[in-house]
Amino acid sequence: MERGKFILILGNMFAGKTEELINRLVRSREYKHKIVCAFKPAKDTRSGTGLLKTAKDVTFPAIDILEGDAYEILKKIKLREWEIGRKLDVVGIDEVQFFSCNIYQVIDHLLNNGYDVIAAGLKLDFRGEPFPHSVSLLGLVETTYDLLLLTSCCKICGEEAQLPQRIIDGKPAKYSDAVELVGGAECYEARCHKHHELPEKPPTA
Ligand SMILES: [Zn+2]
Repeated sequence: MERGKFILILGNMFAGKTEELINRLVRSREYKHKIVCAFKPAKDTRSGTGLLKTAKDVTFPAIDILEGDAYEILKKIKLREWEIGRKLDVVGIDEVQFFSCNIYQVIDHLLNNGYDVIAAGLKLDFRGEPFPHSVSLLGLVETTYDLLLLTSCCKICGEEAQLPQRIIDGKPAKYSDAVELVGGAECYEARCHKHHELPEKPPTA
């Protein structure tokens, strides 16, 4: 069986990652007549149950995966294929940073079994440090054309923004805060390196 094609969309918050994922899934379905199916971790509560949702409120149906258990994607694919009576062609996965660490092996398995996979996720956390599960997926990217790195605009100066700025009660969150805090514009802004604020960051961290 021919190995499937992998596309990885990584970037900052508010950079249009989900929009890019949805566009590519719609293109595969509408123009290439592929059977597509999308997944997201259930802990992404912003989109609502059973949906991918962009900042502009464009939606696409998605299956929620409890606890971000990547193996569950394989089980849900089998179930979906049984329901529709044929194999899926394209698998979309959003918010890859919130899936379990075996997301790499699960996607590799899907590719080996002929599925095309498009995955999107956050590259850096609010401390400016990599989300390991997102960044590990670079290992599955074969050419530069299959990797999209998206930035947004700094809320302060409008320049390219690489970093998510977490804001709690109107103030920048501290370095020691928990890495995961699911939220949108009410607790995050895009910022450039110059305007990213991270109080209490240890000098060697
Ligand atoms: Zn800036």
